Amino acid sequence: MSKNVKITGDSREEALDILFGDASDESQVIIDLPSRGNFYPGFKGIEIKPLTFSDEQKILGSRNPQEDLVSKLLEKTISGVDVDDLVSMDKMFLLMKVREISYGENYEFSITCPACDTSVQTSLHLSDHLNIKKVPEDLEDPREIMLPKLKVKAKVRFPRSREEVLITNPDDIIKNIYRFVTSINDNKDPVFISKAIKRMHIMDVKKIVGEVSMTDYGINPKFIFECPECNYSETMSVPLDVGFFSVS
Ligand SMILES: [Zn+2]
Repeated sequence: MSKNVKITGDSREEALDILFGDASDESQVIIDLPSRGNFYPGFKGIEIKPLTFSDEQKILGSRNPQEDLVSKLLEKTISGVDVDDLVSMDKMFLLMKVREISYGENYEFSITCPACDTSVQTSLHLSDHLNIKKVPEDLEDPREIMLPKLKVKAKVRFPRSREEVLITNPDDIIKNIYRFVTSINDNKDPVFISKAIKRMHIMDVKKIVGEVSMTDYGINPKFIFECPECNYSETMSVPLDVGFFSVS
């Protein structure tokens, strides 16, 4: 008689449940977002779970450069808020969190020393370097700003994940920035807003672009780089790219 015990159907599922019983629930609920969840109606927290191996392979194997891999990855791993609705400060924060529960806290990458060009292998405990800055509790979306030259009030809103494609390069920003302005001097007509921006002083346009792309909030992972070859030292940003999600 064969020593291999053949298990089928229910008993196989049961055996798998026993094997992965405790390990399978590594999901976490996150309430403490950079946006505080303030911009998502009915927000009760976001549940995140680790990326599975097959999801990782599918996402990293994507050959379509147009695809937003970060969004695809979040669609597999978060629930509670539609990924398309996320503001970018939360999107990057969640990406870090998914990475942490999928691969652990250490992030290894190589950096080229700006002084001597040596490639330096670096390892960081990510959560120690996140520098999370949350929005003020009373910050609303849209929010009121003052145009410095025209001296009138305007309302601007944060771009959502699905709209990031509209403002990825400088030409697009100029063309599309009006979409993120909900009123100028209480006028809400998009055609009026678009035409008004075209006639505005550069200082007012820059004010609007700065407020819409607001990068003050969210994560800004920094670390102090020290070159072992030439002793050069500088505060640097942690490189956040797709390589962030491939563990070799
Ligand atoms: Zn160096």
